[in-house]
Amino acid sequence: MLDGRNLRLRKHSRQASAVALRVVRLADLFLGCGIHTISGPADSRVLHDMTARYFVDHEIGRSHVSLEGPEAHHLAHVMRAKVGDEVTLFDGTGAEFLARIQHVGRSQARLEVLVRRPIDRELAFQLTLGVALPRGDRQRWLVEKATELGVGELVPLLTARTTTRPEGGARARLERTVIEASKQCGRKRLMRIGAPCELASYLRNTPPDALRVIAHPLQAVAERAARPGDLLRAPSVYVTVGPEGGFTDGEIELAIGHGWQLVDLGPRVLRVETAVLALGSVIVLGRCLFE
Ligand code: SAH
Repeated sequence: MLDGRNLRLRKHSRQASAVALRVVRLADLFLGCGIHTISGPADSRVLHDMTARYFVDHEIGRSHVSLEGPEAHHLAHVMRAKVGDEVTLFDGTGAEFLARIQHVGRSQARLEVLVRRPIDRELAFQLTLGVALPRGDRQRWLVEKATELGVGELVPLLTARTTTRPEGGARARLERTVIEASKQCGRKRLMRIGAPCELASYLRNTPPDALRVIAHPLQAVAERAARPGDLLRAPSVYVTVGPEGGFTDGEIELAIGHGWQLVDLGPRVLRVETAVLALGSVIVLGRCLFE
């Protein structure tokens, strides 16, 4: 597996060799997993564009479905789909459906469901994210990335220094962001957005047998961090990230008291959404690449 360049590296030190080996293995993994070839004859009626997936807001169980609202708009006006085109539908329950367009109106489309394909693009473990959400675009960006990473549920946390509380229209907009992100990344189950939850109640009510980590700079407290090996093995992981103003000392003491482990993300202070993406990536991709 080692090529000439890596063999030269090996002469320098055992440590360099280990690094080279890891690089080769990662490269192999990327080559093995990342490039897919579509076989079979090209069919112009099938929209191969990765964005040509449409969300149906009820369980698809019948032979025909209607698309309305933003999904019908996307189909008719953005993708300019025509009668006879075949597209992919999903209803958030874990499968996708090949469907043929029978009618396209200004704000509604009707499709015949041709085939159901069970597709599982979910994580092999349960990942829950509790986070004190930032505002505006950064909030939407965070929700988009959490969806792409495979988070099962996002719980907006109310902490001493939280200023956001997504309810009503704000929550509906976040749910729309989840749908858009799922269409883009091919996920067939929607990440749930929980009701806003007080931090104390969240810390207390999460299952103690799950791995529960709370991101907090460790120089602030003399407490042991979660071990990376645990993050890569636990069947159920709860990750908690604080607000822009950080957690209070009292909140961290409460978390420790309920058995949560602290996780340090390095010497720089990360924005909330960066902390979510960094920690989420370590857990999700760490398991994908090194298991
Ligand atoms: N203003 C705060 C930082 C808040 S950053 C301060 O100066 O302490 C927002 C959240 O991201 C934090 O509550 C924490 O959960 C997470 N975070 C950011 N940087 C981190 C780091 N280096 N280590 C661990 N957690 C971090």
